[in-house]
Amino acid sequence: MKASQFLISTLKEAPADAEIASHQLMTRAGMIKKLGAGIYNYMPMGLRVIRKVEAIVREEMNRAGAIEVTMPVVQPAELWQETGRFDKMGAELLRIQDRHSRDFVIQPTSEEVVTDIARQEFKSYKQLPKNLYQIQTKFRDERRPRFGLMRGREFIMKDAYSFDKDRDAAQISYQTMRAAYKRMFDRFGLQYRAVRADSGAIGGDLSEEFQVIAATGEDAIVYCPNSDYAANIEKAESLAPTQPRAAAAQAMAKTATPGKSTCADVAELLNLPLANTVKSLVLATDETNDKGDILSSQVWLLLLRGDHDMNEIKVGKVEGLANFRFATVSEIEEHFGCQPGYLGPIGLKKPVKLVVDRDVAVMADWVCGANEADYHLTGVNWGRDLPEPALVADLRNVVAGDLSPDGLGELAIERGIEIGHVFYLGTKYSKAMKATFLAENGKPSEFEMGCYGIGVTRLPAAAVEQNHDERGIIWPDAIAPFTVVICPIGMDRSEAVKTAAEKLHADLLAAGVDVILDDRGERPGAMLADWELIGVPHRVVLGDRGLQEGMVEYQQRRDTAATKVPVDEVFSFIT
Ligand code: ATP
Ligand code: MG
Ligand code: MG
Ligand code: MG
Repeated sequence: MKASQFLISTLKEAPADAEIASHQLMTRAGMIKKLGAGIYNYMPMGLRVIRKVEAIVREEMNRAGAIEVTMPVVQPAELWQETGRFDKMGAELLRIQDRHSRDFVIQPTSEEVVTDIARQEFKSYKQLPKNLYQIQTKFRDERRPRFGLMRGREFIMKDAYSFDKDRDAAQISYQTMRAAYKRMFDRFGLQYRAVRADSGAIGGDLSEEFQVIAATGEDAIVYCPNSDYAANIEKAESLAPTQPRAAAAQAMAKTATPGKSTCADVAELLNLPLANTVKSLVLATDETNDKGDILSSQVWLLLLRGDHDMNEIKVGKVEGLANFRFATVSEIEEHFGCQPGYLGPIGLKKPVKLVVDRDVAVMADWVCGANEADYHLTGVNWGRDLPEPALVADLRNVVAGDLSPDGLGELAIERGIEIGHVFYLGTKYSKAMKATFLAENGKPSEFEMGCYGIGVTRLPAAAVEQNHDERGIIWPDAIAPFTVVICPIGMDRSEAVKTAAEKLHADLLAAGVDVILDDRGERPGAMLADWELIGVPHRVVLGDRGLQEGMVEYQQRRDTAATKVPVDEVFSFIT
């Protein structure tokens, strides 16, 4: 590929709404272009990355025996009515009508359609097991699309569905997929963890998420460094014991001094088994003696995060701060200068009481914690329908430092990005849709199913979160838009440079290397800065002076300096 024939459109500045590195850098590198909220053009440079992700996914799915299919983006509502999801699924499901006022959905996932295929095609146990997958556009009308490709409304997902004759066979299909995911994730070149996740009503342990580790991740992962225990925080919490502490309801702040405390303190304070409401909310931790006298206190504010549009959440007023009223939670955040998602122990001089409006809707699954990494709790639910005590929260109690369920060490907590999810479904869909095959005993039997997703467009964003520096993106080789960029200095002036650059380009192409030659005639500074921003992992710079000695400069994107290498040895550095 020659850069002059390609589309390279780098930007100096990131758009104002780009909060995290991947969104900023992918936009600046000209990989994505916003069209609407959560809707993006995949520009040629970005599409190359997506196609490489798809290729790895496709290879490993095929290797695992799955069969590719494509199911429609626009799906008739009838199938979705069979399972009840047309009505049950919330606003995330985009429902549309055609010219005859017939209902359709834009697929957010495809259990219904694939089950419909299975009930027509797989008539006998002899045809099983089968696994059908697609790499296809999805639409979810996310409440809070954000972070670029990370949480889009339109995005690409690989979704696979396994069909088996019984539970045992389904477990094998699940394990086959799990192994395929491990191979894929190893190939992506990212740091990840397979963590246990909730399998809902079905129970058991057959639901795992593949989480790419990143500080900006929306999920929390609980793991034990001494063993292979790892779970998402919801799963970890559902296993942890809850100890009701009625006294916590009275532990309103009286006096407070600035200070630090940890999640454990908050957990102790708020560890009630109750759900829901809060009319007036004070988050504070008090150290008391046995007479109940308060020896010291630390003030906490409510800490928020999750699937909420914070601007929609009204907080009536904050007592204790003279004449201060907060209209929205984001204003509170702004006022205290906290990081998004966190309002920690912020060194207030006075106790602070947050009064949440009575008419605030139920708020579920907030994250509370300190403004310090890894000190937080999730699943805090506030609503308006509960009687006194005013301060209630449903905090499940898993914190860093707790003993791991396997007893092999202390738990640690880190943040992750959910890229993949493997899930045993049982007969949930086959039962609802009467999808049966003839079993060995000659009787109709419902398919045992599993479903397996990968966020194909979320993955590049996660890769960038994990791999970037102040100059730009650093792609892992496997998913880089180009593996090598050749940057000739003065190509327009020097015949020697032009000849050498074109020869190297041709040689690398002939060897099957994904290479781009920057023949745009940009100034050297701008040219090199572009490729550092775009994040091509290997770079070869050629100039007249070096070529006179038969040398070029090779630099890996992470290297701090270039290495002089003989032209004909470039190959050994790249391959
Ligand atoms: P999340 O918890 O992030 O909302 P999910 O659990 O709803 O994701 P699944 O239904 O498990 O997602 O879908 C499979 C995969 O699709 C996810 O693991 C994720 O990688 C990807 N995905 C889900 N929602 C989005 C989105 N809005 N934008 C991009 N990728 C997504
Ligand atoms: Mg979701
Ligand atoms: Mg999820
Ligand atoms: Mg999921």
